[in-house]
Amino acid sequence: MSVVGIDLGFQGCYVAVARAGGIETIANEYSDRCTPSCISFGPKNRSIGAAAKSQVISNAKNTVQGFKRFHGRAFSDPFVQTEKANLAYELVQLPTGSAGIKVMYMEEERNFTVEQIMGMLLTKLKETAENALKKPVLDCVVSVPCFYTDAERRSVMDATQIAGLNCLKLINETTAVALAYGIYKQDLPALEEKPRNVVFVDMGHSAYQVSVCAFNKGKLKVLATAFDATLGGRKFDEMLVGYFCEEFGKKYKLDIKTKIRPLLRLHQECEKLKKLMSANASDLPMNIECFMNDIDVSGTMNRSEFLEMCDGLLARVEPPLRSVLEQAKLKKEDIYAVEIIGGATRIPAVKEKISKFFGKEISTTLNADEAVARGCALQCAILSPAFKVREFSITDLVPYPISLRWNSPAEEGISDCEVFPKNHPAPFSKVLTFYRKEPFTLEAYYSSPKELPYPDPAIAHFLVQKVTPQTDGSSSKVKVKVRVNIHGIFSVSSASLVEVHKSDENEEPMETDQHAKEEEKMQIDQEEQQKTEEQQQAQTENKTESEEMETSQADSKDKKVDQPPQAKKAKVKTTTVDLPIENQLVWQIGKDMLNLYIENEGKMIMQDKLEKERNDAKNAVEEYVYDMRDKLCGIYEKFVCEDDRNSFTLKLEDTENWLYEDGEDQPKQVYIDKLTELKALGQPIQARFQESEERPKAFEDLGKQIQQYMKAVHAFKAKDEQYDHLDVEDIAKVEKNANEAMEWMNNKLNLQNKRSLTLDPVIKAKDIQAKTKELISFCNPIVTKPKPKVEPPKEEQKPAEQNGPVEGQGDANNGSQATEQTTNAAAPTPTEKKLPEMDID
Ligand code: ATP
Ligand code: MG
Repeated sequence: MSVVGIDLGFQGCYVAVARAGGIETIANEYSDRCTPSCISFGPKNRSIGAAAKSQVISNAKNTVQGFKRFHGRAFSDPFVQTEKANLAYELVQLPTGSAGIKVMYMEEERNFTVEQIMGMLLTKLKETAENALKKPVLDCVVSVPCFYTDAERRSVMDATQIAGLNCLKLINETTAVALAYGIYKQDLPALEEKPRNVVFVDMGHSAYQVSVCAFNKGKLKVLATAFDATLGGRKFDEMLVGYFCEEFGKKYKLDIKTKIRPLLRLHQECEKLKKLMSANASDLPMNIECFMNDIDVSGTMNRSEFLEMCDGLLARVEPPLRSVLEQAKLKKEDIYAVEIIGGATRIPAVKEKISKFFGKEISTTLNADEAVARGCALQCAILSPAFKVREFSITDLVPYPISLRWNSPAEEGISDCEVFPKNHPAPFSKVLTFYRKEPFTLEAYYSSPKELPYPDPAIAHFLVQKVTPQTDGSSSKVKVKVRVNIHGIFSVSSASLVEVHKSDENEEPMETDQHAKEEEKMQIDQEEQQKTEEQQQAQTENKTESEEMETSQADSKDKKVDQPPQAKKAKVKTTTVDLPIENQLVWQIGKDMLNLYIENEGKMIMQDKLEKERNDAKNAVEEYVYDMRDKLCGIYEKFVCEDDRNSFTLKLEDTENWLYEDGEDQPKQVYIDKLTELKALGQPIQARFQESEERPKAFEDLGKQIQQYMKAVHAFKAKDEQYDHLDVEDIAKVEKNANEAMEWMNNKLNLQNKRSLTLDPVIKAKDIQAKTKELISFCNPIVTKPKPKVEPPKEEQKPAEQNGPVEGQGDANNGSQATEQTTNAAAPTPTEKKLPEMDID
């Protein structure tokens, strides 16, 4: 079973895989470990990753990038609207209200959802992993920004499904990094000791995220996270773009912002310049040829000018750093290390700001580009049954407080309750108890909307169905389990109705009543507590941190509540009935829709495959034309007569022209047929050449064999001791065969030498080889017949025995060598980092 981790970056993605030797970040077909988050649509197929990136300018309107942050957002979302203005491709409102991406694909206008687009990117990453692992990839762990809301997370989950992946966990990017950092550390404090607090800072292309984690042996707990959801490398690029737009606008009288292609080129050049400035403080040129209206533009920039213009951006580095410390109630001195990752932390001023804030050197021990993917692969290995990894527990957190709101019929008002406060450990489940007579709705929402980098605080509505009053007409007790799951997504995971059955025989009504009264009392208490008549939310029962354990604890606790105390003798029985829950999630794709997307993705994969095969078939024709043309006036020249060569060359030229004209865009079969047609002409020439290459060697081998047997015959005749045991008749047969073979060979050689090379040879190399074989199989058994064994005299055996120990010694030596070799083979190569206790089952 494959174990894969995927870092879905705004600009680029990384895939890491777990193997028995450790975690490895894998390269794509361009030998690049970064696959650009880019998809380009064409009239026949899609290109994904690097191939798409190269079309950003040439196919601007149909090349989609920068879509990571459209997950789970409405078209009307202010963020979407702001982004829309700067995109080369078009965003549209889909019938669901969500943001869609409009492109021309297969010569048709198509609106894709962001899930579909991300699904396409994931398809590519899946293929990359499959090519590296040489087996199908299904299970994976995918990273998302720590600040993603439920709608965004669910949207990414849908994208993984569209790509045919089984996402075992959506992990927060900063948590993946913390895992990649912690799991290899051998010197973490013991469980009872004070934990080691480490801050992780990730500034990527689109966002800036900070987390502080507490490490103990085998344990990582995220204490707090903070972020600036729009501060990233691209903001720095935009500063430069803005500057040069103005500069070139004035200098060359160009209105750059109105033209998408020059603007895209400027973006690319500004990003390059930004990177150069990270390594170089001197003046750097910014030259673009034929930039706009055939004008070449040029300017300069240096690091200090750049810093000045980025002052506002750099001021945004500190607040999240301060925030995590405040939230975790830690002082700067409590921080053991500050680890930075993400491309934009390479900007020296960003590094300085972070280092200055903490008053210490920042560490760059982690791979700035690959740490997230590696952490994802580690998490996948931990979750996968196929791997045995050292125990390492990860406790993440709930980034925003989550509340539930419900209608309180008795009070004719709304009640609410914060179920998960900010930074509550996750994953986590809680059981809430309600007293109701009919179905009711729970509305989950983020109760601190100001903190959200997302406009809609609503999470979902959960309708708890089939709630009925008890037989006596009173409210039923309804237990509702709410949870933040492994992906960081909130849900009402189950609901059950506790039915109270009064026993009818041999039981004193009093006691039953008494119990009923107790229940009632509890209800009344709750009622007072909640100031409602119908005892809405009675209590929230906190369970344990681990979800697995939680369930069992929830059960035992339930029993305590449900079963009457022993002293009262059980006269009342309770049973629980599971209640169906209907979810109305914000921006959730329906099951049918999702299935349709999965089906469509399959069709597009097939189309890409067919198109690739068609292109390969076309390339094969083109390649053949060039190859044959070269060879016809080169190595094949002697093997074809002038007339045939001329007509074949002409045919090849025609085919080349055809490829640029009518043959530019033909079905695969047409190219296959074309190639067959050309090969019919080329094949005999090629074969004659091939024969002439192989023939001399074949004749030489036969000649050698003949000579060898003739030598044996002569030696026999000369009474050589070596052959004196052979039979004279047999030797005569060998001589006859060898002579015949010689005659045959000379005859063929003569004929062939007289024959023109432009004609098919009189004899093929394989026939000569067959002749050689025939000769060997006849003569060999005769000439190699072993001599009859002569019993050695007894005394002569002694020296042989004396040789024994010497041989034995030799064996011992060999033995030790063998052991050494085995040890060497088992030892890991020095460059390989071993995954802790990782084995494939
Ligand atoms: P996100 O994490 O926001 O989803 P991402 O993971 O794609 O985005 P990264 O790959 O971490 O982002 O970083 C890409 C950013 O880092 C780009 O803006 C890139 O220009 C910038 N970057 C890379 N190298 C350097 C450098 N040497 N100097 C300055 N910036 C750099
Ligand atoms: Mg990133």
